[in-house]
Amino acid sequence: MMANWIKPGSTVGILGGGQLGRMMALSAREMGYRVAVLEPTPDSPCGQVADIQIKTAYNDHEGAKKLAENCDVLTYEFENIDASTANWLEENMYLPQGSKLLSITQDRITEKATIASFDIPVVPYRTVDTLVELKSAVEQLHLPAVLKTARGGYDGKGQRVIKQMEDVSAAWEELAGKGPFVLESWLEFEKEISVIVTRSVHGETTTFPIAENIHQNNILHQSIVPARMNSKLEKEAVTIATHLADSLELVGTLAVEMFVGSDGLLYVNELAPRPHNSGHYTINACVTSQFEQHIRAVCGWPLGSTELVKSVVMVNILGEHMPKVMENVTDLKGAKLHLYGKSEAKIGRKMGHVNVLGDNVETILEQIERSPIWK
Ligand code: ADP
Ligand code: MG
Repeated sequence: MMANWIKPGSTVGILGGGQLGRMMALSAREMGYRVAVLEPTPDSPCGQVADIQIKTAYNDHEGAKKLAENCDVLTYEFENIDASTANWLEENMYLPQGSKLLSITQDRITEKATIASFDIPVVPYRTVDTLVELKSAVEQLHLPAVLKTARGGYDGKGQRVIKQMEDVSAAWEELAGKGPFVLESWLEFEKEISVIVTRSVHGETTTFPIAENIHQNNILHQSIVPARMNSKLEKEAVTIATHLADSLELVGTLAVEMFVGSDGLLYVNELAPRPHNSGHYTINACVTSQFEQHIRAVCGWPLGSTELVKSVVMVNILGEHMPKVMENVTDLKGAKLHLYGKSEAKIGRKMGHVNVLGDNVETILEQIERSPIWK
């Protein structure tokens, strides 16, 4: 029997009840685990498919303790668990992922400094605390640039693009009080890609095929796999992701977002220490999904094959797409529908996704283009 192997029949505890937790839970259940989730909102995407739901705030120590008492192993889908809760869990419960990577990636300043410390390129940046520092950072980096809050940003929230000197004060005022910040040079890029790397408690590491990501309004719209890029760059991207996983002594899943610059070079944009929206294509297109691989990694299984079985385009379904999805999704040939069980279809809210499978990405993209859903 392998060490650190969590036997099926045991309970996997998930911090956070959103769609990532739901899809982790579904994989865990397929493998015979029971699932407990900590989530304050009733009827959450993960709560709907879990055996036990503990309804307290994410950072409530009593709630975390109760979750721990009900579980044999813990993982998280939600990155903004406060450091003291994560620390407590690491010390008092079995959280194989630990809390260190979580705290590094919660803050763009430590995240970028850590990536750079492994000699992996990031876009030139400066840390900024005051308007004076912002002005001097603008002078050093030149414009255009983008000001980002160090903590709590997602889907482009907490960011302001600064195109000319006149925009500096406005950007500063709009983000007032949300600091510290980083100012990054605006990179001319050819495309955005991501690599999802998984490392088990035994140190076994896999990467999934590279996803080419198309954003709309800073929210992921499509992931195209295989990515349309040359094999030399592909190898470099995989090397970077694996180097990060080893250097960080990763356990679990790490999504590495990168830019392919117009200069032909790769830059790491940001990291997410969990399964990622750009890996949802793996559910239908790979031998093993990112969610199954994550459960395997933290429960001490050997990792599964990440081989791509079919070409695929994943398209996100936001609140505003829902009526058309219901009307037209059955016309999309080769489409696999995934909905997260959210009742309120708010604009911009991630309600689900579709994985459209086919023989090659060109014909899949043409088919999606013809569909009225995303018009
Ligand atoms: P979030 O946490 O919101 O995903 P990101 O740093 O990934 O934050 O930024 C969101 C998107 O904005 C990126 O996917 C990219 O399209 C664009 N972006 C961010 N930083 C830069 C940059 N320095 N140069 C060019 N585009 C950028
Ligand atoms: Mg991002």
